[in-house]
Amino acid sequence: MRLGDERESSNFEDVTGQSGLGGGGFGGGGLGCLLPLIASRFGIGGVIVLVIGYFLLSSLGGLGGGGTSGVAPATQQSASSGQSRLDPNTRHFMLQVLASTEDVWGKLLNGRYTPTTLVAYSEAYQSGCGAAQSAMGPFYCPTDKKIYLDTEFFDELSRRFQAPGDFAQAYVIAHEVGHHVQDLTGTLGQAEQLQAKSSQTQGNEIQVKIELQADCYAGVWAANAKTPEGQPVMEAGDFQEGMRAAEAIGDDTLQRETQGKVVPDSFTHGTSAQRMNALQTGYQSGDPAACKSL
Ligand SMILES: [Zn+2]
Repeated sequence: MRLGDERESSNFEDVTGQSGLGGGGFGGGGLGCLLPLIASRFGIGGVIVLVIGYFLLSSLGGLGGGGTSGVAPATQQSASSGQSRLDPNTRHFMLQVLASTEDVWGKLLNGRYTPTTLVAYSEAYQSGCGAAQSAMGPFYCPTDKKIYLDTEFFDELSRRFQAPGDFAQAYVIAHEVGHHVQDLTGTLGQAEQLQAKSSQTQGNEIQVKIELQADCYAGVWAANAKTPEGQPVMEAGDFQEGMRAAEAIGDDTLQRETQGKVVPDSFTHGTSAQRMNALQTGYQSGDPAACKSL
């Protein structure tokens, strides 16, 4: 990617130096998180996050060995100093990508776009939707309209999912911003209403649609992203990086890896083919209207 002199977004909170859980947690009473109905009915897996299924499946299935991020961060009081643990290059990159999403969606929504805030945390943090833990993967919380991301995830993406590259990382951020766009346009609220009167299987289908639209929106952003000098941000090979990431985190691929079998009814993010297709649709059209809705 070529972000050039793109500004840094100021809609950013770096809390990597103040990890810790103040109690609570997803699934608790009064959960106001993204699609709270599925979140509360189906447990944590119903919350819209990019790759939550993988981490949960691997930790619940006892297959999570070898991971470096761990699943019990609350006990690791490693950063009470308050000092940022964020790599300056990663920080700069994330803030440029975030600024670029603000530029693009500001135009696409004709000024009706209000930015989301990106919260970089380390290991664990209290989000507006309950406890954020790095094992959950990045997610968007509609209650406080913030994206929560442990940048360790970028390493996971590269090592565990074999999807390295700057656009693979940008795709993660743009996907979460896509959920914010869905929030602003009312799609999330609509999905929630539909899910309230759905079976679990139907609820999962709605969730998959939401995820695929967010993937598509990530592609729309990429297609429209320009440097301040007017150059496309995307360079040769970038799109393939995103496609590799989309493939690696499809439900079927993840389930096959962690369970040895595919259970379509439990899909919440879409298959690898669906996710790749959604990203491609957004990228080729550059038009949010081309992204399938509910
Ligand atoms: Zn998502």
